Amino acid sequence: GLFNAVPDLESPIGEKLAVIQGLPPDPTNLPSGCSFSPRCPYAQEECLEKPCGMREIEPGHFIDCYFPHRYEGGSRA
Ligand code: SF4
Repeated sequence: GLFNAVPDLESPIGEKLAVIQGLPPDPTNLPSGCSFSPRCPYAQEECLEKPCGMREIEPGHFIDCYFPHRYEGGSRA
């Protein structure tokens, strides 16, 4: 969602930026799983149960997501 919200010089004038639906979670009452799960279009059962945790997917690049491959193909959430 954040990547999709970055404007670029090729976008037509007046084009609306992508938005992430919903609201950020209450920091005093975070979801038990991934904090983004209530707003993530790719959330699955695992996402609701416990946070994934940071893991290195290639040297120096870390990700905190169970399903990072779902963001490939130009439609990142
Ligand atoms: S797919 Fe990734 S970002 Fe989405 S809810 Fe699951 S762990 Fe979180």
